[in-house]
Amino acid sequence: MTLDCCSRLGFINALAVTAYGAAAVAPALAANPAPSVASRTRVVLLGTAGGPSLRPGRSSPAAAVVVDGVPYVVDCGYGVGRQLVDAHISPTAIRAIFLTHHHSDHNADLGNLLVLGWATGGKTPVDVYGPVETAPESVVTTSVGKLIDLALQYHGYDIAVRIPDEGRVDPRPLFVPHDVGSAGAVYRDERVSIEAAVVHHPPVSPAMAYKFRTPDRVVVFSGDTTYSESLIAFARGADLLVHEVLLTSALDRLLRLVPNATRLREHIVAAHTDAEDVGRVAAAAGVKRLALTHFVPSYDPTLTDDDWIAPVRRHFGGEIVAGHDLLEI
Ligand SMILES: [Zn+2]
Ligand SMILES: [Zn+2]
Repeated sequence: MTLDCCSRLGFINALAVTAYGAAAVAPALAANPAPSVASRTRVVLLGTAGGPSLRPGRSSPAAAVVVDGVPYVVDCGYGVGRQLVDAHISPTAIRAIFLTHHHSDHNADLGNLLVLGWATGGKTPVDVYGPVETAPESVVTTSVGKLIDLALQYHGYDIAVRIPDEGRVDPRPLFVPHDVGSAGAVYRDERVSIEAAVVHHPPVSPAMAYKFRTPDRVVVFSGDTTYSESLIAFARGADLLVHEVLLTSALDRLLRLVPNATRLREHIVAAHTDAEDVGRVAAAAGVKRLALTHFVPSYDPTLTDDDWIAPVRRHFGGEIVAGHDLLEI
């Protein structure tokens, strides 16, 4: 069996649903967060599943940083628009979007978020940042500019109908693509400055991490990565590190059901960070809080928050939050 990285995670998630039964009870969703009055910066996890397959309990990867009421979005997995609305964050108010890389669990709903945000009443420009990537042994390349063009084509009929019928502005000038390919400054306005770092997520390259500096917080998103020295340096002293997590022991339990388990395991472990290494990264970076997200395996109803936190705790003494969809941290 040959599976690319996304397919491998999708396979594992499908296997998990099969192993535990489709009728198994999904983990309870966190209650919708109430807006914080104490902080100028809110961080909301919109989707916390790792991998592209659809499963109960967790939505695909996405997060929002809301600074003085203005939202910025990191990654656009399937369902990001619905998750924003359920978090009481208006899609029409999004100022900028940052994609870490182009696996479909991170970009599937970019176009839908932009166009449906416009159809909901969005009238202001949205800057979109992300890497340019070429598939290994292929000529297939993608970028946020290409995805925006395709989204405008996909929704071209709807756009052409609504502009005269509903008196809407032309959305085409509103969606502004920017390529990100190396470490350094990416974006700045009066509320926030954002930097990127290159992390290691084979075979995808480059894969990015992002750091938000706001008036009251420094927040780092790892994106998808293996243990990364560049991420440790990038996250040094951050108030909050939002890091992906792989629970290798749970993966092994699922893989016992698979004939070519050794090869599958090697591929997944080569692209993601085991929970113990997440603790090592947080400790080495000296971050104040750590939030776990992008859970692999993403669907295993036998796992509790403590199961995810315990291996991280062996190496990191600070506060650890096991992420859930719509959790504000
Ligand atoms: Zn992913
Ligand atoms: Zn990925």
